[in-house]
Amino acid sequence: MLTLYLHIPFCKARCSYCDFYLVTGGEQIAAFFSALSLETASRSEELKRQTISAIHVGGGTPSMVPVRYLTGWLEELAALCSFSPDLEIALEANPEDLSLKKMDELRAAGITRLSIGVQSFTTEKLRTLGRAHTALQAGRVTADALQRFESVSVDLICGVPGESRSLWQADLHEALALRPHHLSLYMLSVEPKTILHRQVVKGLVTVPDDALQASLYEDAQSALSLRGYSQYEVSNFSLPGHHSRYNLATWKREPYLGFGPSAHSFFVSSQQERRTANVSSLTRYLAAPADSTVFREELSAEERFTEQVFLSLRINSGLDVDFLRKGNKLGHMLLSAIARFIEKGWIEQQKERLYLTKKGFLFADLIAEEFIFG
Ligand code: SF4
Repeated sequence: MLTLYLHIPFCKARCSYCDFYLVTGGEQIAAFFSALSLETASRSEELKRQTISAIHVGGGTPSMVPVRYLTGWLEELAALCSFSPDLEIALEANPEDLSLKKMDELRAAGITRLSIGVQSFTTEKLRTLGRAHTALQAGRVTADALQRFESVSVDLICGVPGESRSLWQADLHEALALRPHHLSLYMLSVEPKTILHRQVVKGLVTVPDDALQASLYEDAQSALSLRGYSQYEVSNFSLPGHHSRYNLATWKREPYLGFGPSAHSFFVSSQQERRTANVSSLTRYLAAPADSTVFREELSAEERFTEQVFLSLRINSGLDVDFLRKGNKLGHMLLSAIARFIEKGWIEQQKERLYLTKKGFLFADLIAEEFIFG
């Protein structure tokens, strides 16, 4: 089984906090899909005899693309590989694009899962984030999507400038009242080269301190757990059976193929594991779509081992202690780092498996850094 990712690199405007690869405006959508056809055909050997269990269409803003382009690409894929009978096709969407007509078209095109970039149900936060939709629209669109799609996920952002416990409680309250199948909760991070970064550096805005962010994250963990959501990854919570198949496959280090500019792929065979990335430039992608891979890396045994450790810990199935014990010198070094994290209450051992604790989910990135660089 294989999962696929498609990066659609278009947004109407760039949000102040976003550092994804994208271009603003949709003038090149048709050219992009022509190039994507060429890239897909050129990778027919990678797709041949494969069965696809999930396709994730991300970006950028995939919902600003006319649905006929997506249908065309899915038909091209279907000619090159097999789709599993319960194939999940997920699409990231912004509320302002989701008219009832658009949602019906997406459903008819085979999209089973909609991941809605709500970010907040409050007018204050949406204004601060510079989002194009209103709080009312976010609620209405989520309710309409829940009538149409097998799985609906809602993205919320915590920790925007001016964030408060009451704003965050309002977001959680509205989300839980709508009861989507899945919630992704992101702590706003101030990335270099973004507008937000410049605003913070100039002192024009301040973001909440780590203590407030941590406490709001813990509020969310408790509220969601009480309502039956399971936290299966650092930022992701789902009702039973509604986890994101593509994302979970990447955390489990299963192979995946990425299409479009800046998309990554991961190849696994008995002899080797390899990561590749496409060029992060639409211009260069359009010029040579069949030759868009600009980065290739064979993973060393040590890199594979370390990746397996920190990615297993990110998800709720945890890590087998025996895997570390068999990891020779490196495994024993990581075991002593883990002992320190157990003392801090960030990792716990249950029988022969290690898991991040509720608190540990907050420090997942720090733990990963220690494993990679420590
Ligand atoms: S809509 Fe999403 S991808 Fe586009 S600029 Fe905003 S945050 Fe980035």
